[in-house]
Amino acid sequence: MTTMIIGGGVVGLSVAYGLLKQGQDVVVLDGADGDFRASRGNFGLVWVQGKGAGCVEYSLWSRRSAGLWASFAQELQDLTGFDLKLVQTGGFEYFTIAAELENQVAKLLALRNASNGDYTFEVLDNVALKKQIPEIGPKVLGATYCPEDGHVNPLFLLKALSSAVQKKGGVIHTGTKVIDVTSTDAGFMVVLENGKQLNGEKVVLSAGLGAIDLGPKLGFRAPIRPQQGQLMVTEKLPTFLYHPSGTLRQVNEGGIQIGASKAELGLHDVEDVLTIAGLARHAIDVFPHLAKAKMVRSWAALRIMSPDGLPIYQHSTTHPGATFITCHSGITLAAAHAELLPDWIMNNNAAPDLSVFNEGRFDV
Ligand SMILES: Cc1cc2nc3c(=O)[nH]c(=O)nc-3n(C[C@H](O)[C@H](O)[C@H](O)COP(=O)(O)OP(=O)(O)OC[C@H]3O[C@@H](n4cnc5c(N)ncnc54)[C@H](O)[C@@H]3O)c2cc1C
Repeated sequence: MTTMIIGGGVVGLSVAYGLLKQGQDVVVLDGADGDFRASRGNFGLVWVQGKGAGCVEYSLWSRRSAGLWASFAQELQDLTGFDLKLVQTGGFEYFTIAAELENQVAKLLALRNASNGDYTFEVLDNVALKKQIPEIGPKVLGATYCPEDGHVNPLFLLKALSSAVQKKGGVIHTGTKVIDVTSTDAGFMVVLENGKQLNGEKVVLSAGLGAIDLGPKLGFRAPIRPQQGQLMVTEKLPTFLYHPSGTLRQVNEGGIQIGASKAELGLHDVEDVLTIAGLARHAIDVFPHLAKAKMVRSWAALRIMSPDGLPIYQHSTTHPGATFITCHSGITLAAAHAELLPDWIMNNNAAPDLSVFNEGRFDV
């Protein structure tokens, strides 16, 4: 039974690895270098804090994945030799505006209530925060801390997954854009841009923004849109930041990564000075000494957003054997996608209940 996975970003590769571990044959078809690829431009957080406000199932799913991350990273390292530089010492969100801090605390309290009290977080004022992170600036009124948050090197993750898939016997075709996909008596046939055709019994559509075109061919609505995020990174600095935040983290090589903006600009992934200046201003408000740091690089990438920001996990009702998977936190969810999602794709008894994430929620 061969499963063709369309899209070899972090989502497609996580699923491919998980299916291979379940004994499935897998062929990954990944498009061109010029494609929009969130997996190569993201912030690298394995993040829980605040996720799932209004949908506790998403909070639980993200936390379940974060809880699986340590063993997942170790397993990939043992198999491929890549150390993913996973750090899960908890994360801070810093606030310079009182109303925003109040909103965050209200959100985390609501999540704690929805989780029957099983949701740990702390609120720190500037004085308490400064004891832990002396470099914190006077403009920071306070922070929230969640012990389940962490970060990873997302490019090492991608390399490790690619290597792991091949070591497990999977095949990855790069530079292989799928332009059409249809059902056949025996499963599915995909047509590639170079005119070749491939057949397989099952299809997983995990093509990021490429699913906008391919989804309807398999009966999916694929109601996703791009959302631009800009980021920047400084020169390597002596280690001072031992916890990531939603906007600042010290990467394993030493640079401070600063991000990420949010803008609805369509398929536009070019950074601009005004946005980058805003990111820099926030970073300096939080850590004033960063004003002297050299900026090394800035870039923009496109998130893959569903209308409500939650993942979409959908089996096709019109094309049995086809599955659509997309999310806007593919790094955080990589462990769940590799360890738990394959059972759901194969309809095994152990499948997690993901019904809240199907496309039916967008029916008018
Ligand atoms: C600025 C920014 C910051 C982010 N920060 C975080 C974070 O801190 N933590 C977190 O968890 N997530 C974060 N994300 C989100 C995360 O990066 C994405 O959820 C994840 O990368 C999505 O992976 P994907 O495989 O679905 O998509 P992609 O990485 O876009 O991969 C899709 C793949 O499909 C291929 N493809 C497309 N069309 C076709 C076709 N027709 N045929 C064959 N192949 C095709 C493409 O070539 C591509 O390789 C961030 C994203 C952005 C943009």
